[in-house]
This record gives sequence, C-alpha cells and structure tokens, in this order.
Amino acid sequence: MILTITMNPSVDISYSLDKLVINDVNRVSNTRKTAGGKGLNVTRGINFSNIPVLATGIIGGTTGKFIQEQLDEDNIAYNFYVTQKESRNCIAILHQGNQTEILEAGPRLDNDDVEQFLQHYKKLLNHVKIITISGSLPLGFPVNFYVNLIELASEYQIPVLLDSSGQMLLTTLKSQYKPYLIKPNQEELKQIIQMDIDVNDSHSLIKALKHDSLDDIPLIVISLGKNGAFARCFNHYYQVSIPKINVVNPVGSGDITLAGLAVSLHENESIEVMLKRAMTMGMLNAMEAQTGFVNMNNYHEYYQQVEIKEI
Ligand code: ADP
Repeated sequence: MILTITMNPSVDISYSLDKLVINDVNRVSNTRKTAGGKGLNVTRGINFSNIPVLATGIIGGTTGKFIQEQLDEDNIAYNFYVTQKESRNCIAILHQGNQTEILEAGPRLDNDDVEQFLQHYKKLLNHVKIITISGSLPLGFPVNFYVNLIELASEYQIPVLLDSSGQMLLTTLKSQYKPYLIKPNQEELKQIIQMDIDVNDSHSLIKALKHDSLDDIPLIVISLGKNGAFARCFNHYYQVSIPKINVVNPVGSGDITLAGLAVSLHENESIEVMLKRAMTMGMLNAMEAQTGFVNMNNYHEYYQQVEIKEI
C-alpha cells in the first residue's frame, strides 16, 4: 500500500465569474468545491492507477468533514488525525481567462498536535510499502517536521518520496534522514542549488544534479512542464521527452507525476517504465479541466510517445 501525507489539506472552492468587480458584490452561479492539497491530488493519481492507497494528514471542523465526504465519494481510503481546529478553504476566482486566488494559511497547531500526529503516523506504518509527502506544513509545525517522518519511515525501511519546497525541502536535504526520491520543478531545483540552470542543456542539468546537497538521494526527477523531465537514478542520467499536447489546465500535473512515480516504485518497475509512467500521468492531468483528474483511457496512446534517452 502507498501512504500519502497531506499535512495542511483544504477545501478548494472555485468561482467562475464573467467579470470580477472590485469593491462591489459579485454573485456566483457556477461554484465547485473539492478536497484539495497537493497530497490529495497524489492520492487521486494513485487511485486512478488502481494501486491501494491510504491518505493521512490533519483535518478538523466542518471543512475537515467535507474533505472526508469528498474522499468517500471518490472511494479513497483515509485515516486522518482529527483536531478541533478548522481545516482551511482555498478560493480560486476564474474571470476573463484570469485566476485570482485567495489562500487561507490554515489552522495554527501546537506541539501537542505534532506529538499526536507522530503517534498516529507510527501506527499506520505497518502495512505500508511507499510513502509520499507533499506540500507545506501547518502553522506551528517545526520546519524539520518532514525529517521526523522520514526518520520513522526508515525504521521500517519504507522509502519516502518528497515533493515540497522552500525551507521544508532545504532542511530535509541537509538532514541525516534523506528522502528516496524528490521531484523538484525548475524553480524548486534553483532554490536547492542556488544557481541558474539551462534546461535545454543536459550538461547544465547534470552539473545541477551533481550538487553536494543532492548527494545521497537515489532518485531525482526534475519535472520541466512541456519539456518533459530530466532525471538521475543513482549515477545514471536520463533525458525524458514528451509529445506536444493540448493543455487545458496544468495545475496539479506535478502531483500526478509524483503519483506515477510512487505507483511505479510500488510495482518495482524499471527506471525507463517509471519515467514514462510519471510523464504520461502528468500530461493526462494537464489535458483535463479538473485539477488532479486523469482519463486513464488515453494512457497507452501518450505512454507510447514518451521517449527516454540515457545521457
Ligand atoms: P509542477 O506542477 O510540479 O510545477 P511540471 O509543471 O513540471 O510540475 O509538470 C509535471 C509534468 O506534467 C511534466 O513533466 C509533464 O509530464 C506534464 N506537464 C505539465 N505541464 C505540461 C505542458 N504544458 N505540456 C505537456 N506536459 C505538461
């Protein structure tokens, strides 16, 4: 089974307006509410691949209940640590081809929540083969919290796939307990290595991947949007090219790519198959309007068009 971790999930509310009028009333007839957070997108991606998955993290209040109901509707198994504090809403207003977002920070949690969640997490580890960690931490959680999760996973020899950014990622990379795989996009990679990268030049990408801070991470997949990906698996380097597709909404493509990587590791696939699967999933997400959704009927058509070249 794959365990997915979403520490700060949300109810994602999307309002479609013909026009957003500032300092006036805007009435909305077209509203969509879904369970959100990067880790829940990963969970959906794994579920679409028919691999057993369990979602965990922290939820609370009526928003927390709504998140559970949404996962029930999608037949996704979950076991969250539940607090008294209300989970967050994230609002996206779609207007005239623009997207204006209002993102709540979420509840401020305390040390007791940190301890309680760690106890909760430990109890889930018995039947888990792979763990994915995505996104940011709740307010009040220490920046090295993901290190704690990876350390506990290492006691059970469970590899952890980490998709995070900023100080949470940098702190984890400096720690003694490393993730098995990271999937930075171009911006996140720049944050890690603090230098410019030319994504069209494999020498530049290899140099970036040889950066000291990435030394002990077996698998690194740099996702490059429409340019596919560049990956390092131990000391082998791979250029991954993808076909041109009709992009409808690329939000969440990185999460679904991580789902593909997790599924592939779970199924003990080769690095070539893993990269092809991950890219195909990312593309399928980008071709749909709904974030975190893929139409698996198109899987084989696009899978065949992904090309892997060892450099
Ligand atoms: P993130 O969402 O983390 O920033 P990317 O934008 O790199 O990640 O997207 C992850 C993957 O999704 C890409 O490697 C690719 O397979 C697919 N993808 C994303 N955007 C596009 C696009 N515009 N065209 C084709 N594929 C895309």
